[in-house]
Amino acid sequence: MLKLISKHDCCGCTACASICPKGCIAMTADSEGFYYPEINENLCINCGLCEKVCPLLHKPAQHTILNVYGAKNCDDGIRYTSSSGGMFTLFANAVLQSGGTVFGAELDDAFQVCHTSITNTGELFKLRGSKYVQSNMNGIFKQVRTLLAGGKKVLFSGTPCQIAGLKGFLLKDYTNLLTVDVVCHGVPSAKVYNKYLTEIAADTGEAVTQVKFRDKADGWKRGKTLFLTENHCMGSSKRRETYMRLFLNNVSIRPSCADCAFNNKRSLADITIADYWGVDKQFPEFDDDKGITLVLINTTNGQHLFDSIKDKTTYISTDFEKGAQYNLAVSKSLGLHPKRQYFFDNLEKKTLKELEAEILPPV
Ligand SMILES: Cc1cc2nc3c(=O)[nH]c(=O)nc-3n(C[C@H](O)[C@H](O)[C@H](O)COP(=O)(O)OP(=O)(O)OC[C@H]3O[C@@H](n4cnc5c(N)ncnc54)[C@H](O)[C@@H]3O)c2cc1C
Ligand code: SF4
Ligand code: SF4
Ligand code: SF4
Repeated sequence: MLKLISKHDCCGCTACASICPKGCIAMTADSEGFYYPEINENLCINCGLCEKVCPLLHKPAQHTILNVYGAKNCDDGIRYTSSSGGMFTLFANAVLQSGGTVFGAELDDAFQVCHTSITNTGELFKLRGSKYVQSNMNGIFKQVRTLLAGGKKVLFSGTPCQIAGLKGFLLKDYTNLLTVDVVCHGVPSAKVYNKYLTEIAADTGEAVTQVKFRDKADGWKRGKTLFLTENHCMGSSKRRETYMRLFLNNVSIRPSCADCAFNNKRSLADITIADYWGVDKQFPEFDDDKGITLVLINTTNGQHLFDSIKDKTTYISTDFEKGAQYNLAVSKSLGLHPKRQYFFDNLEKKTLKELEAEILPPV
């Protein structure tokens, strides 16, 4: 049976809770709002499955990256609504058009981030774009397994730890599964995010009706994070915006993100996607400030998927070192902010703006 010695040892992937044959593991939020397994020992039969599937008990080794590209979706409209070059949409489209199902993170009607599945291209807008909150994965792995066992083609997308959790949970390889992960330096909890939505509603007197984590109206590099209500537009450049500053400076992220086990060529996904920061310095003629996806091909299945859609892109070949040069999260974790504990200890006593002002330097 799993024994969590430290919160650094759990990324919240839900593999253990999903595999338990007695249903005796519940994912429960702690005071910071991050979910951890809670085991009802009275029901446990000590089968060991929860330990067997846990990706943090079986950390991946480094592998060779087959190819690295900087790529743009030829459709500028899709690129505009994607976080970087709109490559996820092309990978997902390929699977949907062959009758498959695509899983990824959406903002639901209540603006909560959760994993869901889609089966037609008209729904792809839901999964497009990064949502900087740990997504709710409740019950998702079992849905994936049911489809795979029935012979359906599946593309599953998420953070690298979610892919690793899924691979552990499945207990075997499926030839009808493709996986895409995002380079990830950490995730804030839903509690932090919901507190911010509540604070915006209190400040404006109106509920938030739209969240744009990566608005490109001023370009990709000067992207904005916006929280909209009926009559207000709150937010600014993502580097100046309160919620994003707390996230980007590793104040509001999960403990396991301090030393992530899945960066630096350790992703278990077929393809890894990221922002190709620094492309303007390395390949200035290729950058149009509309967004470029860094695409890392980890497996031959990933290469086949990329080759099947490459005529819908413009792309350049690059390499891992160039991709990581201006994007540290590709190759390393940066630990937690020294005042992270202070932040969470005071989360219920102060507003996020007050905590930002106390913890981070003025902008
Ligand atoms: C929490 C998080 C942290 C990230 N950190 C970095 C970083 O440090 N450096 C970097 O270069 N890129 C990072 N990214 C990835 C980046 O923001 C873009 O998603 C990536 O460049 C792909 O862009 P795209 O235009 O090709 O596709 P998009 O359409 O923008 O990508 C959408 C994909 O993101 C997935 N996704 C969205 N939100 C979540 C979520 N909350 N949890 C799991 N999956 C999600 C969707 O399922 C879909 O697969 C991060 C993404 C997330 C979600
Ligand atoms: S050992 Fe088996 S029964 Fe016990 S909690 Fe883990 S998966 Fe469930
Ligand atoms: S399987 Fe996932 S949720 Fe369970 S303990 Fe391991 S990392 Fe945490
Ligand atoms: S940094 Fe690593 S552990 Fe944290 S959410 Fe991202 S992939 Fe998971």
